[in-house]
Amino acid sequence: MMATQPRATQHEGLSTMLEPVYAEVLRRNPGEPEFHQAVCEVLETLAPVLAARPEFIDAKLIERICEPERQIIFRVPWTDDSGTVHINRGFRVEFNSALGPFKGGLRFHPSVNLGIVKFLAFEQTFKNALTGMNIGGGKGGSDFDPKGRSDAEIMRFCQSFMTELYRHLGEHTDVPAGDIGVSSREIGFLFGQYRRITNRWEAGVLTGKGLDWGGSQARTQATGYGSVLFTAEMLKASGEDLHGQQVVVSGSGNVAIYSIEKAQQLGANVLTCSDSGGYVVDDKGIDIDLLKQVKENERGRVSDYAERRGSSARYVAGGSVWDVPCDVALPSATQNELDADAASTLVRNGVKAVAEGANMPTTPEGVRVFRQAGVAFGPGKAANAGGVATSALEMQQNAGREIWSFEQAEDRLAQIMRAIHDSCYRTAERYGAPGDYVAGANIAGFERVAEAMAAQGLI
Ligand code: NDP
Repeated sequence: MMATQPRATQHEGLSTMLEPVYAEVLRRNPGEPEFHQAVCEVLETLAPVLAARPEFIDAKLIERICEPERQIIFRVPWTDDSGTVHINRGFRVEFNSALGPFKGGLRFHPSVNLGIVKFLAFEQTFKNALTGMNIGGGKGGSDFDPKGRSDAEIMRFCQSFMTELYRHLGEHTDVPAGDIGVSSREIGFLFGQYRRITNRWEAGVLTGKGLDWGGSQARTQATGYGSVLFTAEMLKASGEDLHGQQVVVSGSGNVAIYSIEKAQQLGANVLTCSDSGGYVVDDKGIDIDLLKQVKENERGRVSDYAERRGSSARYVAGGSVWDVPCDVALPSATQNELDADAASTLVRNGVKAVAEGANMPTTPEGVRVFRQAGVAFGPGKAANAGGVATSALEMQQNAGREIWSFEQAEDRLAQIMRAIHDSCYRTAERYGAPGDYVAGANIAGFERVAEAMAAQGLI
C-alpha cells in the first residue's frame, strides 16, 4: 500500500476573499504540497465564520494562523554499529502557542521534510484546540529511517537529535510526543538525553513516557481507542452502532492496532490491517494478540501475521485495502493513502462511516466523494485527537505528581471524544452544514485559536 502523491493546489472551493491568502501561502512555502493541501482544506470551510466575524479579517487572523511562529531545522550526525557516520536532518515546527505550549509528535521516517512537518503542525493546532485543553500546535521529526536499526543505533540517533532539540523544549514551551517511527522506546532515549544535558528530571517535557517514569495509563491506546469512540458517536448520530459492523483498518502501527482492539471490544468485526508492503484480509477477524506479538514484540510485518494465522488470513502484496467491502473504514497509516478511486470503491461497497485515525489520510478528492455520497466522515483533527488529549492528561498528572488508573484515564478519554464529536456536530449545524464534520471541526478549532490570538494582541 503506497501513499498517493499529493497534488499541489486544490482550491476550487475557496471564497474570493481567501484566494489571495492562499496564493501567499503558496508563494511563501514553495514545494510543500502537503502543507498547501492542509491549509486549503481548512480555508475552504472558513468563509461563513469570517462573514460573521469581520474583526478576524481586520486583524489578519487567517494570514497569521497560516504562518508558523518558529521553524527549526538542524543537523543530526550519528554513527551506526559498524562505525560509519550518517547525517540526517531534524525539524521542529512550533506553529501556534496561543492556547498553550507547542504540543505534537515527532516522526522518524525517510519521507519527512519541512513541508510534511509543517502540514502536521498546522493540523495539530486545530486538533489541539478541539480537545478544549490548553495546548498549542507543533510537530517535528527527521528523515531518519529506523527500520532495521539496532537498539544501540536508535539510541545514538535519539541522543544526537535531542542534543540540539533540548534547547527549544520545556514543559511550558514545547512538549513533543511520538508519531510514526517514534514510540515509547524512542521517547525513553530522548528523555534520558534531555535529563542528562539539563540536569533536570522534568517529566512534563515529553509525553508517551514509560508507565514507571511519568507516563500515563491509556496513552498507548488513546489515539486508536479515541478514533473508534468518535466513529461510534457518528454512527449513533445517524441511529446506528458499531456492533456487528464490518470494519476495514489500514496500517499496523500504534493507531491501527488500538483501533482494531477497541472496535472489537465494541462488537465490530475487523477484517484487515496493512503496511507499506501490502495488506491482510482475515475472514475470522484480526487476531489482535497475534498482531501485537508480530508488530510490537517482534517488529515484524503483516505478511508474518498472515503466515502464522492459518487459513482464515491471506496476504495481498501491494494492492488497495480499500477494495475490501465494509461498513466502516478507518484509515490509520499515513497521509494521502485513500484517494478518490478508493473512496468511490468504498461508497459502491456501501460504506457508512469513515474516520481518519491517521493525519490527512484521505485526499481532497476522496473527501469530496464521501461528502457527496452522504457518508459520515470524521476528519483526523477530530477523530484522532484522543492521543494528544491523553498526552495533555499526562502533563496534568506530571504537574500534580499524580498517577491515575487505566480506568480513570480511559473514562476521561471517552468524555473528551464525546465532547469533540458534539462540538463538531453542533458547530456544523450552527453554520448551516448539518452532518458535515469537516466544516464543524475546522470552524470549531479555528474559532478557539482565533479568539485566543485576538485577545493576546499582535504577536
Ligand atoms: P506507526 O509508526 O506506529 O505505524 C505507521 C503505520 O503506517 C505502519 O503500518 C506503516 O507501515 C504505515 N506507513 C507509514 N508510512 C507509510 C507510507 N508512506 N506508505 C504506506 N504505509 C505507511 O505510526 P502511528 O500508528 O503512530 O501513526 C499512524 C498515523 O496516525 C500517522 O498519520 C500519524 O501522524 C497519525 N497519528 C498518530 C498518533 C499517535 O498517537 N501515534 C496521534 C494522532 C495521529 P510500514 O511499517 O510498512 O512503514
